[in-house]
Amino acid sequence: MKSLLLVFSISLLLCIPQAFAQVSKPDIISVKEWGGKEPTGSIKEHEIEYITIHHAGVEMPEDADPVQKLIGLQNFSQNDKNWIDIPYHFSIDLDGKIYENRPLKYPGDTNTEYDPTGHALIQVLGNYEVQKVNEKQLESLAHLTAWLAEQYDIPTDKIATHKDYSDQTVCPGADLYKYFQDGSMIERINRYLEEGSSK
Ligand SMILES: [Zn+2]
Repeated sequence: MKSLLLVFSISLLLCIPQAFAQVSKPDIISVKEWGGKEPTGSIKEHEIEYITIHHAGVEMPEDADPVQKLIGLQNFSQNDKNWIDIPYHFSIDLDGKIYENRPLKYPGDTNTEYDPTGHALIQVLGNYEVQKVNEKQLESLAHLTAWLAEQYDIPTDKIATHKDYSDQTVCPGADLYKYFQDGSMIERINRYLEEGSSK
């Protein structure tokens, strides 16, 4: 009986980490699943300390195929820019679907003056200077960001957008940036973090 009790209390103890778990991992379409290529090489690895949000900066019509966009971006990145891969780690399409891009262990790339080392980079497909971000995209962005923040122990004051680090860009576009400016994106992210920790 004593040993049964012991087993019971140990298993209770083992359950504790799960009781405080965790933002659920969002569905992420892997590079293999969307038909992307491997990086063309390896570069110095980094530790993730920031999460930084971008837009593609290219208008995305409703009927455009996001996979074709990613294949085009990967070809451009690897062939024309001589980068190892797409400059971002994740992309989000108009339906809020999340695609894995460059492996997180490698820093991203940029055409502007900030150093993306240490940043997890998420791009939202589309141009939010001219189009409006939708609810599905905002929710996916919040979910993915919260999950990354928890995985890498990143405080919400290290979650920002490209233009917060660079004067040379309007990225992520006015309509997406406003959700960062008014604090509502961080509220959404906090909701995932709090719900995750109360499960
Ligand atoms: Zn950007």
